[in-house]
Amino acid sequence: MPRAQRKTRRAADSARSSAQKKRAGVHERAAVFAPWRLEFVLGPKDAGCFLCRAAGLSDGDEDAWKKTLLLYRDAHALVIMNRYPYTGGHLLIAPRRHTHELPSLKEAESRALWEQTRLCVEVLGKVMKPQGCNVGMNLGKAAGAGIEDHLHMHAIPRWVGDTNFWPVIGQVHTVPVALAQLWDELRPLFRGRT
Ligand SMILES: [Zn+2]
Repeated sequence: MPRAQRKTRRAADSARSSAQKKRAGVHERAAVFAPWRLEFVLGPKDAGCFLCRAAGLSDGDEDAWKKTLLLYRDAHALVIMNRYPYTGGHLLIAPRRHTHELPSLKEAESRALWEQTRLCVEVLGKVMKPQGCNVGMNLGKAAGAGIEDHLHMHAIPRWVGDTNFWPVIGQVHTVPVALAQLWDELRPLFRGRT
């Protein structure tokens, strides 16, 4: 088959497959562009569990809480900002107890986890005014868990065209500053609950 004809056929195949996907309700999901996550993916990993460290901080030590990006904690669960966020305002909600097994959660832990997830979506809605929110868990490596040993829920605010929503995040080195500023904004809304 001549080259030009092959090209036309490939284009036709591709258009057909795209039309089939649309009919089947399949939409390709756009990836969030978060280059600062490379630091997490490629960098050395901290020894120990950062969620357990947050669980063990003293009550009322706001400096340590800010450094750790811990926003809220009760007897059973905690809310912490993801240091390597997919988008600004990416929060993690975890039981205080170190476990990777969701079925092992006691009723009070499950309730706290869900209540704090609800609270995160409420606070993010007020402060960041997202147009949507992803909430969910990746249990185990095969499911995409970045931290496998201590289960956690993600609450990720989303905007249409995500990458432009927070202009301050343009380069990797601006992220820690942006995170500390955002902690200052989010913390008061959680502090009222403690
Ligand atoms: Zn842990």
